[in-house]
Amino acid sequence: MPADPPTPVSSQRPDALCRDCGQAQMAARRCDACGSVRVVKHAELHSLSIAHIDCDAFYASVEKRDRPELADEPVIVGGGHRGVVSACCYIARLYGVRSAMPMFKALQLCPQATVIKPDMRKYVTVGRDVRVLMQETTPLVEAISIDEAFLDLTGTELLHGGSPARTLVRLVRRIETEIGVTASIGLSYNKFLAKLASDLDKPRGFAIIGKAETLSFLAPRPVGMIWGVGKALATKMEGEGIRTIGQIREMEMKELVRRYGSMGMRLYHFSRGQDDRRVTPHSPMKSISSETTFNTDLSALEDLERELWPLAEKVSKRMKAGEHAGLTVTLKLKTPDFKLITRNQRLTSPTQLADRIFRTGRDLLRAECDGRRFRLLGIGCHDLTDPRDADPPDLADPGQLQRAKVERAIDTVRAKLGGRAISKGRGLPAAGGKAGREPVEGT
Ligand SMILES: [Mg+2]
Repeated sequence: MPADPPTPVSSQRPDALCRDCGQAQMAARRCDACGSVRVVKHAELHSLSIAHIDCDAFYASVEKRDRPELADEPVIVGGGHRGVVSACCYIARLYGVRSAMPMFKALQLCPQATVIKPDMRKYVTVGRDVRVLMQETTPLVEAISIDEAFLDLTGTELLHGGSPARTLVRLVRRIETEIGVTASIGLSYNKFLAKLASDLDKPRGFAIIGKAETLSFLAPRPVGMIWGVGKALATKMEGEGIRTIGQIREMEMKELVRRYGSMGMRLYHFSRGQDDRRVTPHSPMKSISSETTFNTDLSALEDLERELWPLAEKVSKRMKAGEHAGLTVTLKLKTPDFKLITRNQRLTSPTQLADRIFRTGRDLLRAECDGRRFRLLGIGCHDLTDPRDADPPDLADPGQLQRAKVERAIDTVRAKLGGRAISKGRGLPAAGGKAGREPVEGT
């Protein structure tokens, strides 16, 4: 009777991991320990340590957590009929609903969906809870939005008694059980690839891009997948016959720089999966802004001012909810031929107040209103800092203290009675009508 060939199992490092119980193992189909089929297997599984964690359909998941009766129902988080979809759950996505889609279209596709108004204050709180769990895992957490972050787990094996992959499995399990929302993991050896990976297997995903398959993974992907390549550049490149990342790789660096300037360097390196950006812990948000696109282009200052106020209020509301204050106000305008204009004003002290954001934006707006028409208006705050230093009394502007008092009083009433309970005189119906811009999250 022929003997079975010896199995080299004992000499090999287990390259599979159960995503439910965290058991490291050789098997790829089912977990030896708990029988789960959610087993991730990869030759580089235990040697990769840069991760991107992204909560799944975050706003919608938070709402479902708080209303369990909606667990199996399509849920859309978004504004009224004229607004857009801020987030939608995976059941709503089965009907074709997507983030940033106009609400009326979403409801045509999925009329039975439960529509919930966005509650940014709640999402910010839950997002912070998620971040605390991440920070308990490693100090190197770089939040890039309310519900996603990069984590560098290099050198944490001893601390956590296992590879970064296993630590990540445990972290997302804690996010699920302690906070009640799900998240997806992308694991690789740099930020660019980790971010791409987290999107590959949503929801509750765990996707890996290892060194061995980087080039073959990237080659057929569209150029727009490269960090920093927006719609305009992608269209330009496509016009020049460059559609895939593989095609970029066929070009010399010199040629890329000649065609695309400083972006050419980035294209050269990223197309090879090279990204040396570190995971740097910093303030979770670099800026908070809000914008609107008009149905009809506007040129008159008073029309634009009228549109500016609700945007300033929205930005202020998110700053107050997220406990941020901004030192720089940025105005954004787009002309009918899509030319983008941005203007900044640094303030003497950080602000959270809609009134100060509006007034600064209005000054910037005045300088631009010279008869040109605009299709888009936006306002935002940059250089976010601690709100404790925000809005000290301004001796040069005695009216400011009074206006700040009024605004805080309105905030208090709104917090008790709801957003529309009271409004300041400027919150009048819009002149130009608008497509609406609700906060829109990724995936
Ligand atoms: Mg997300």
